Amino acid sequence: MPIVVQKYGGSSLSTLEKIDLLAAKLAERERREDKLVLVVSAMGETTNELTRLAYELTPSPPARELDMLLATGEQQSIALMAMALHKYGIDAISYTGVQVGLKTDTLHTQAKVLGVNSDKILGQIEKGKVVIVAGFQGVTAEDDVTTLGRGGSDITAMALAVALKADRLEKCTDADGVYTADPRIYPDARRIDRLSYEEMLEMSYAGAKVLHPRAVFFAWKYRIPILVKHAHLEGQGTWIEELEENVEQPIISNVTQDATIAKLTVYGVPDRPGMACKIFETLAAQDVAVDMIVQSTTMRDVNDISFTIKRGDLARAKGALESLARDYPGMDVQAEEKVAKITLIGLGIRSDSHVATGMFRALADEGINIQMIATSDVKISCVIEEAQLKSGVRALCRKFFL
Ligand code: ASP
Ligand code: MG
Repeated sequence: MPIVVQKYGGSSLSTLEKIDLLAAKLAERERREDKLVLVVSAMGETTNELTRLAYELTPSPPARELDMLLATGEQQSIALMAMALHKYGIDAISYTGVQVGLKTDTLHTQAKVLGVNSDKILGQIEKGKVVIVAGFQGVTAEDDVTTLGRGGSDITAMALAVALKADRLEKCTDADGVYTADPRIYPDARRIDRLSYEEMLEMSYAGAKVLHPRAVFFAWKYRIPILVKHAHLEGQGTWIEELEENVEQPIISNVTQDATIAKLTVYGVPDRPGMACKIFETLAAQDVAVDMIVQSTTMRDVNDISFTIKRGDLARAKGALESLARDYPGMDVQAEEKVAKITLIGLGIRSDSHVATGMFRALADEGINIQMIATSDVKISCVIEEAQLKSGVRALCRKFFL
């Protein structure tokens, strides 16, 4: 009998009513021919609330203790979910990450999964139980509790799907699938039937909140199909699987936006070996992840280097670079907070050279200035002013019939 792993996010479990509704729906499904493993996140805003508590107490809570605290959110929701299922006559059992032996490295609050012991879960499945596992948490070789980074329940779900050789992962969420654009910005956006792993991975990197990129990466590596569907409503959802580019596949599948970025420019960087290295080592030392990078052509032996980072990292990154700049006369750092990234994604981009022109034309016709460009086989991203993001999304939707 195939095993199906279902992942439920915090917003699908934000109230007892929603948990109850879900249990009632699962009770119906239980009579169908598959074995269910549920991975759940903390209810609603619980993780944010726990984080707030810690930082209200101290500006620098020890990462180990932060993990101890954050992991309690998911421990609540697994137990409540199990109780709700029992109420509807389903024999369910809940486990924490520690209990299912979800082993991680020791990098607290950002731990990487090393493996998971599937025996216990398979044993309970054999007994006919629905197994509910706490997302987002694991345990080190030293028995310390860890968490996998925000949104990490997707990673737990995928790790279990791999270990249990599941038929598929169902990502159950607030929307009935993945859309060609954010329907709040472009109401005519359509649900997509099928997406390739590659497109979904680019979407995750481009700022889509649908799935954690590491979960998509593992799905792709182990060829586990993902079905994105509504947590409470029936519908077809969106399949993410291995797809070949072919005549039936649209050239462009969607437009994704990210308004949580910021841009930094370092002016007057001496044009000699090692300078770029120095700048990005300075950022790495501050744990700042860099996304797009553009270096201008050399003028009078100096360059300008611009790049994007997460907006939340801006103050830290700017401070570190300003102190670096003090060592180099003429070097200067400028931050821009109100920028955003707009990304066009599609398998056809690699074979259709007109996509980039079409994108730039559509943005130009809206009077939108492009500040940076980055491309890959299946995406074209532009950094633009944040205030123009919505009109940019709409323009691309119209241009590419999304
Ligand atoms: N509860 C955790 C968070 O909010 C993990 C998750 O939701 O996936 O980040
Ligand atoms: Mg959450």
